[in-house]
Amino acid sequence: MKKTIKIRAYIQTFFFLLIAAISINHGLEESGQGIPFLSAASLHALCPFGGVVTLYQTITTGTFVQKIHESALAMLYSVIVLSVLFGPVFCGWVCPLGTLQEWIGKLGKRIFKKRYNRFMPIFINSKLRYLRYLVLAWVVYVTAKSGVLLFVNVDPYYALFNFWTGEVALSALAILALTMVGALFVERPWCKYTCPFGAFLGIFNLFRIFKIKRETSTCIDCGACGKACPMNIRVDKNKTVRDHQCISCRICTSEEVCPIPDTVEFKTGGGLSEN
Ligand code: SF4
Ligand code: SF4
Repeated sequence: MKKTIKIRAYIQTFFFLLIAAISINHGLEESGQGIPFLSAASLHALCPFGGVVTLYQTITTGTFVQKIHESALAMLYSVIVLSVLFGPVFCGWVCPLGTLQEWIGKLGKRIFKKRYNRFMPIFINSKLRYLRYLVLAWVVYVTAKSGVLLFVNVDPYYALFNFWTGEVALSALAILALTMVGALFVERPWCKYTCPFGAFLGIFNLFRIFKIKRETSTCIDCGACGKACPMNIRVDKNKTVRDHQCISCRICTSEEVCPIPDTVEFKTGGGLSEN
């Protein structure tokens, strides 16, 4: 539906502003000037990825990795339930770093027009997409071994909402800058190639309940849905999208994209073998 794209844009803006406000408020709280109706929680307590990195320590010792709070685990469980139902909606509708990359991408689209998001050679692009699973394995391993949240030193999400505090490592600021420049050429480069949380949530695309499905009997093979996908998924070549990179943004199901109504839909049904 056309409306979906607009509603998604509002929801993304809402979460971006909310996280920014909470992050600023956390700094104000420390100097005794917090905004009363906003949570004083730190970004670590509100980030569901904290739940992933602390999981090993919590299961084995019952404690949390330094700076991680039990709220991160509660958030992780909620995000998992949503992902089982609808796929990685956290990435496509909530994550403020994804939203920022999309906003920068709008400028990239104006500059490069149809060439935008198509600079990377297909064979490199298809391999590079698995890099984020190596990053995920590295983060979980080093955190489990050290008991310290070392990922924060390279985390652009943390850098984005704390760059003014003087607490952010230069390496994290550099990765944030690289991500923002990269988003001018490639749609959501951090999500596509590096994000360990996106990698984790991407696994749910294999068996989520509500799926992106293309009705082959009405499809006219124009390829518009594949071209519109920010994650370069060939929706037009699949009956059911099970790609680990789908972020459930639902751009492909929009009437604005597919000229034939009800041809790409978001619905249940279809087993693992159907494609
Ligand atoms: S396949 Fe559709 S829902 Fe998934 S990322 Fe691409 S456009 Fe978004
Ligand atoms: S946009 Fe619609 S008609 Fe075109 S290829 Fe995709 S599903 Fe088929």
